[in-house]
Amino acid sequence: MSQAPGQLRYRGRCVDCAWIGRQFVRYTTADAAARDHAGAHQHTTFVADQYEMRIVGSTIRPTRTRLA
Ligand SMILES: [Zn+2]
Repeated sequence: MSQAPGQLRYRGRCVDCAWIGRQFVRYTTADAAARDHAGAHQHTTFVADQYEMRIVGSTIRPTRTRLA
């Protein structure tokens, strides 16, 4: 995998445990990984960029998956 300079990387992170997702070039892929973790462990997760800045609006709360 080549790393283009200046390319944004995203990774899921967990508020409730030390989980840190793999880095992905695509936000949607990191978001899917964060949703997986939130659903599997009932934890609140979010997506951060390569500078560890939280992406606005990326927070995933596991209670949302319980609505059904
Ligand atoms: Zn967690």
